[in-house]
Amino acid sequence: IESKLPKVKTTIFATMSALAQQHRAINLGQGFPDFHCDPKLIEEVNRAMLANCNQYPPMPGIEPLRSAIAKKTYTLYGANYDVDHEITITAGATQAIMTSILTVVRPGDEVIVIEPAYDSYIPSIELAGGIPVLFSMSLHEGQFSIDWDLLSKQINKKTRLIIVNSPHNPTGVTLEKSDYEQLANLLRGTNILLISDEVYEHMVFDGKAHYSVASHPELAQRSFIISSFGKTYHVTGWKVGYVLAPKALTKEFRKIHQFNVFTVNTPMQYGLAAYMNDERKYTELSDFYQEKRDFFRNGLSESRFKLLPVQGTYFQCVDYSAISNESELEFASWLTSDIGVAAIPVSAFYQEQKQNHLIRFCFAKQKTTLERALERLIKI
Ligand code: PMP
Ligand code: GLN
Repeated sequence: IESKLPKVKTTIFATMSALAQQHRAINLGQGFPDFHCDPKLIEEVNRAMLANCNQYPPMPGIEPLRSAIAKKTYTLYGANYDVDHEITITAGATQAIMTSILTVVRPGDEVIVIEPAYDSYIPSIELAGGIPVLFSMSLHEGQFSIDWDLLSKQINKKTRLIIVNSPHNPTGVTLEKSDYEQLANLLRGTNILLISDEVYEHMVFDGKAHYSVASHPELAQRSFIISSFGKTYHVTGWKVGYVLAPKALTKEFRKIHQFNVFTVNTPMQYGLAAYMNDERKYTELSDFYQEKRDFFRNGLSESRFKLLPVQGTYFQCVDYSAISNESELEFASWLTSDIGVAAIPVSAFYQEQKQNHLIRFCFAKQKTTLERALERLIKI
């Protein structure tokens, strides 16, 4: 059959995880923790299952979870989202992204995607009949950033949507309030909408606070804000996330959501709702990951890799140009098969070939895993 997505292959994350398994390599590629989640969270899910919370939940998600999210969003970002009309539980951030795009993008609409970009954005736009307009982050001396003046040149009458992601996968860049001020200036007076992918919102380092689009009323009123419990509670396999959006957007979002998944599994929602009552469960995450970041960076400082700064996420990008001239995919494959440490080529986050000699490691791993990986990486 004629493919609707002719350019799409198996995702780089699945590919590199398979290669890691084949070579019994330490997998610092695909982004997921190799440690357990808190047993209390599992107890809460168990409790829900035993209490027979096993049938369809309400279409937008169970009320206690939407309430807990509303409370968190108010406490951290000072924003009031209506529990009934502005918060929807999704099957991970991936479904939230796809459904948001299907909700607003019509054939021929342009969507500005900032590269390097998470790999689900562009196929979702293409399935909606939209046209991805690619914009590259600037890279100067190992520091990625967004030049908003340059980006403004991509905006025209066909622009329907812009997708931003902070903290940013894979670069670890976090956007500041000033970035959002510039973005707001660009969007004022247009009907362009925004998807803000904030799945790493609770992993921001060096004492900084995550700046959420929720705390910017002017942007929030045109935004889908997306997060994921998989990242926050070390349960990427559960696939539970959520979308915050103003009532009018949520109303349309749910029309698609109800035929996309209809609902998201019930016991996990109850478990998460109970667990979220303890705020420390998310406020302590930055310190937890900062320790891992620092341990990993410290170890790598003895290697020939050049470290890029990491302000948020659980990813560390490194420049390997002192070691090899190979393409990023070749180098990451070699590192997996011959050195025994899997990584992700940053080129996988670009549509066009872009070779910056960068690969991404995930440091959401036990200290012993990081130690073993470092032993191998510093020998190269
Ligand atoms: N957005 C970004 C930037 C991500 O890194 C991920 C996780 N890989 C997702 C979305 C998808 O999250 P989920 O696993 O909840 O679908
Ligand atoms: N978000 C994860 C990453 O960037 C992987 C998700 C996936 O495998 N699709 O590594």
